[in-house]
Amino acid sequence: MEDVACEICGSAEYDLLLDKLWLCEKYNWKKEGRILFSDGVPVNYRNVCCKSCGLAYINPRMTDEETVEFYKRQYREEFTAGEKSESWKLPFPNLHLGIEIYNAVVRYDFLERLVYLKKGINTLDIGSSLGALPAYLKEKGCNAYGVELSQFADYTNKLFGIDTIFRVPFEDLKTDIKFDIITICDALEHFPHPKKALLKIRGLLKDDGIVLIEVPDIFKPHKSVLTFFSNAHLFTFSPNSIKNLLNITGFEVLHFEYGGYCMNMRVIAKKSEAKKMQFKDDFPAIVDFVSRYSKCYSAFEKYKSGSLSYESAMAVINETIPEYSVIKFLEAFRLIDKGDIAGGKGLLFECLRSDFNEESPNVQKGNIYGLLAIVSFKNGDMENAKQFMEKAYELLPRFYDFPHLAELERKGFFDFRGFVFETSLSYIGLSEIRKILKKQQS
Ligand SMILES: [Zn+2]
Repeated sequence: MEDVACEICGSAEYDLLLDKLWLCEKYNWKKEGRILFSDGVPVNYRNVCCKSCGLAYINPRMTDEETVEFYKRQYREEFTAGEKSESWKLPFPNLHLGIEIYNAVVRYDFLERLVYLKKGINTLDIGSSLGALPAYLKEKGCNAYGVELSQFADYTNKLFGIDTIFRVPFEDLKTDIKFDIITICDALEHFPHPKKALLKIRGLLKDDGIVLIEVPDIFKPHKSVLTFFSNAHLFTFSPNSIKNLLNITGFEVLHFEYGGYCMNMRVIAKKSEAKKMQFKDDFPAIVDFVSRYSKCYSAFEKYKSGSLSYESAMAVINETIPEYSVIKFLEAFRLIDKGDIAGGKGLLFECLRSDFNEESPNVQKGNIYGLLAIVSFKNGDMENAKQFMEKAYELLPRFYDFPHLAELERKGFFDFRGFVFETSLSYIGLSEIRKILKKQQS
């Protein structure tokens, strides 16, 4: 373990943001905090906030050598989504592959929407995991490469028949290829030296190339505070800090939005002159937000477990983060189950007006329209069922477009229905409605 200074401004002065070990020990949250042990002793991955620029980062942290060792194996064993799924024979769970395909589809569509994709271009995915994004890009005619340090790199070929994944730390990658598009999604926050990583990306890009970065936003957390401030996320960026980082490493932001399976910041940048740091985050504002979110999420959890009524939980939410809408979504489900269709629908329409939730706004809205379609259909209201269904299909990721889907299922690598049930996505209900409506029309 070593102490580090702020990656962006270099200041060594910080305030303590989150003392995770203390929280974990106090509440006995072994798994949730994903405590890492060193020689049997739990290590405190404290989150601190730079006094000068407001960057949130883990300090102290593993040395660079320890970090490389950690990512070669332990990271995937401890931090893979759905790692408890016992029915899964492969060393990665169904949920993980599903989320990866989901993200690949969404990222592909995003790059296509902004007209960056052309046949024959060179792409590099940094932290390519099982390789769903390179697989999709290759199928669409790109020369798709990936770089992945963990054991997951070895599965890309088995799953997708691609052998262009470099299994090295990105810092050590040596290649003469210049890339049109470099993607680094859910990865930059894991790098001990994101500044160095971005400078290296700059060197690997063609002059007119672009980089797509996706990172969590400290102001759009999801799940509990302990899970969100993951021990593996050495940095928790904000819109300001990610823009600072890009400016000082010689990039200009072309596009900024939120997206992905979780609410990530999604940024497209191109090479430009390096600029001075321009933005600053305020430590008290971050502390205030994190503390409000923590209270809000804890009320939601108590409601979910039945120890707090909807009204009492909503009172807490209205005092902390009134836009937090996940609770209304669940309550709508309960009302509909009890037969209060009008009440449930009313809450779903309220959810449609909020964009503070755990997933990207489009996905949540797609699921809400999906649920509205299913409820309308069950009540014999075919006209509304059809309209809501069309809206849901417009907003949900086009999972079915992933080129390897049928083959993965046939080979027993992926269970689509299992994934959909686990993630409560409304694809199956929707496709059944679509089939019946088609039959009725013909
Ligand atoms: Zn700083």
